[in-house]
Amino acid sequence: MKRILLTRPLPDRVIAAARDLFDVEMREDNTPLKMGQMRGALALYDGILPTLGDMFSATVFEEAENSRCRILANFGVGYNHIDAAAARAVGINVTNTPGAVTDATADIAMMLILMSARRAGEGERLLRSGKWSGWTPTQMLGLHVTGKTVGIIGMGRIGQAIARRCHFGFGMQVVYYNRSSKPVEFDAQQLPTLEAVAEKADFVVVAVPGGAETRHLIGPKLFAAMPSTAHFINIARGDVVDEAALVAALAAGHIAGAGLDVYEQEPIVPAALRAMEHVTLLPHLGTAALEVREAMGLMAVENLRAFFAGEIPPNLVN
Ligand code: NAP
Repeated sequence: MKRILLTRPLPDRVIAAARDLFDVEMREDNTPLKMGQMRGALALYDGILPTLGDMFSATVFEEAENSRCRILANFGVGYNHIDAAAARAVGINVTNTPGAVTDATADIAMMLILMSARRAGEGERLLRSGKWSGWTPTQMLGLHVTGKTVGIIGMGRIGQAIARRCHFGFGMQVVYYNRSSKPVEFDAQQLPTLEAVAEKADFVVVAVPGGAETRHLIGPKLFAAMPSTAHFINIARGDVVDEAALVAALAAGHIAGAGLDVYEQEPIVPAALRAMEHVTLLPHLGTAALEVREAMGLMAVENLRAFFAGEIPPNLVN
């Protein structure tokens, strides 16, 4: 039986599915693997099921050419914590879990759009503080969402799921930026630059992967192009956004608000962001629902099964 390491505690169904097929060891610790632990795991296990925070950088793979481990079956669609090219260079396969996360993450984007526009976090804080003095016609007026324009950066699976929700659910116009041509089957307009999208959008939503290629793709230029009434939403990865530039744009009133699920230095969130009333901050909740986490885990286990059965794993990324 192949030896597999689950780097974090996972839902029971996922553990059971993995144990049906493999000799499984699961860390009870919820902290990311350290460098020495990653190197040790490459030597000791045939396959690893890692996740966000397990930083499999090129350095980790330096002496892994003949390591026992041949596959990292990542739990999550985003795998910017794994240097997939460096893994490939030493013959280690990397897989992810696309699709399983799409709807849940799009739902969180809608929640952030609504919370930011309608000042939900601020309102809840007001009520809980005991300072709410009752309804008035001009109390806490926010931005009406229905019929506005959403600008999606990255029209992939999640970007399209967000666009569909906005278009069919909220009667919104959809404009988007995508590095390649990406026609979609509903009314939406692809624009040539990030700034062209920012200029037109009441809500700019980021849905590209993280990693070196997209690092700080969103910065001062994009915030300057947004109308001062517009909101910025990030459900992708923290490193895609120049967080200092976002703080500056919010502080100067260049944009009206932000809804964030991800941060540059998770779990560290800048004090300046935490102090701002017009910012909605979620602790990376994108896929945080039991059935979604089960689907992700089962997909990762299926990638391991296929690989060890001599098939090409369905979600190979390198
Ligand atoms: P996807 O279907 O692969 O879509 C990715 C999109 O980003 C595509 O439109 C792609 O453009 C674009 N893109 C990829 N690399 C790029 C680059 N280097 N420069 C510019 N654009 C680039 O991925 P998905 O399933 O929608 O997931 C997107 C990301 O969401 C994941 O990678 C993950 O980091 C994040 N996510 C976050 C959460 C959360 O908990 N908040 C949950 C799930 C996923 P092309 O069409 O040109 O390839």
